[in-house]
Amino acid sequence: MTPTCPYAFTVGSFVLGVLHERESEEFRRHADECLHCKQEIAELAPTARLLKTFKAQLRAVDEPHSRPVRLVSPAAAPHRYQRGDPWPLW
Ligand SMILES: [Zn+2]
Repeated sequence: MTPTCPYAFTVGSFVLGVLHERESEEFRRHADECLHCKQEIAELAPTARLLKTFKAQLRAVDEPHSRPVRLVSPAAAPHRYQRGDPWPLW
């Protein structure tokens, strides 16, 4: 499949929060105007949030005296994961 946008391969890094601040801001400005990237962000953001939660849970297991982390799926908390949210919330 051919990407429809030169930033198509940047979306995953953006939603995972691994871009440098300058790259993230540049991509954010691009995505404000790019329907393709907006759609990709909306599709990938819930999965990225779950991965972040799993990572926090694994960290909690490794640190048994830390505060327990509750897993909240998008289905259980739809008010936190509205389709059409413009950006990941972390
Ligand atoms: Zn784009």
